[in-house]
Amino acid sequence: MRFWPLPIIVAASLPLTALKLPQNDRKPVTHKSAPASAAAVHRSAIVIDTHADTTQRMLDDRYDLTEPLIGGYLNFASAKAGHLGAEFFSIWVDPTLYQGHFARRTLELIDAVHEQAAKHPDQMTPTLSPEDIERAHREHKLAALMGIEGGHSIEDSLGLLRDYYRLGVRYMTLTWSNSNDWADSSGDIDDPNVKHTQDGLTDFGKDVVYEMNRLGMMVDISHVSDKTFYRTVITSRAPVFASHSSARALTNSPRNMTDDMLRAVARSGGPGSHGGVVMVNFYSGFISDSWRNAWNAQAPERQAAEKAQVAQWKAEGRDVTYGILDAMDKQWAAKIPRPPLSVLIDHIDHIAKVAGIDHVGLGSDFDGIPASPEGIDSAADLPKITAALIMRGYSAEDCHKILGENFLRFFREVQATAARLQTESAERPTIGAQLP
Ligand SMILES: [Zn+2]
Repeated sequence: MRFWPLPIIVAASLPLTALKLPQNDRKPVTHKSAPASAAAVHRSAIVIDTHADTTQRMLDDRYDLTEPLIGGYLNFASAKAGHLGAEFFSIWVDPTLYQGHFARRTLELIDAVHEQAAKHPDQMTPTLSPEDIERAHREHKLAALMGIEGGHSIEDSLGLLRDYYRLGVRYMTLTWSNSNDWADSSGDIDDPNVKHTQDGLTDFGKDVVYEMNRLGMMVDISHVSDKTFYRTVITSRAPVFASHSSARALTNSPRNMTDDMLRAVARSGGPGSHGGVVMVNFYSGFISDSWRNAWNAQAPERQAAEKAQVAQWKAEGRDVTYGILDAMDKQWAAKIPRPPLSVLIDHIDHIAKVAGIDHVGLGSDFDGIPASPEGIDSAADLPKITAALIMRGYSAEDCHKILGENFLRFFREVQATAARLQTESAERPTIGAQLP
């Protein structure tokens, strides 16, 4: 997703402290003596990234993953170089541009992923399950998965939700930066002109979560408001995850998660659950306060200039695609010094310490962000993260967890929960749970 049309929002006042979660009984981070080679550790991992917006490039710019990057973060060559095993292609529908046509746009984006896989069956394989990810890894192909970013895509229809699952979508972010009819977003929660829910999720919103649980579609709480987050955690019968969010204690963005939220994800899913995962977002604005402040300070000038430029292009009859808008943002972002890679590692480290080593992973947001830390220019640079973690004392086992095993465990549990729920004929327990 892109950032430019969004209002700048300072962290909302967070009245919702009512839900006291028990202190996490996480295992400590294992700091063993340095293993042999960071490259070997990285190569022996199944590397999974849970968020890339490359889909829009594929659909609108007809970008083919065999091409050079041309300003992007992800293609087959970079995935291979970075030993990327599985990518979740984001199905993100711009809520302003596609007003009235959310489902159509959703279906076209899904089609773009399937078409790319059909064109290159030797390099990329449509993937539906944790077992499929492991199989793709053995076959040295990129496992292609899909996640819908924003519940507005279902147009208030559980039937559409089920259709998307049938087409291969395996997670849904309940909201993008826009609130919908049944869940609230951190992106507009302070906007008095936007209608919000009473309790974070409406009764229909709870049904959506429950139906996702029953289908085996992972519930993604990146982007949602804090109240919607807590309501979702207590509603979901399966553990929940954040597909692309970082730590608010380190960088004060409402898109990031507080320490209490990190622990809540780790403990989500109820008794017997192994909990969810927080997949760290690489965006400079989510991992560095100084970068974020500079970007926000630049906003009035940037937004005015971009608006004028787009108006001029449109007047000239030029097709202003996602790639063009993305490139424009990147030019502005380039005026701000990039944060060092160490700040991204700080976020991974913080989440590993607060939520537990079993509850952190990677959600790059490649091709949806205008800037990333120094050294991370494409998927080819993923091994640098492993090397930096090892330098900080993370063991090979810990690195493997962060790189993909934590997510695989979570994905397996979501699917196992669905299998169990499908055998139960019990009434849907989605209505009635009230926050104190
Ligand atoms: Zn996003």
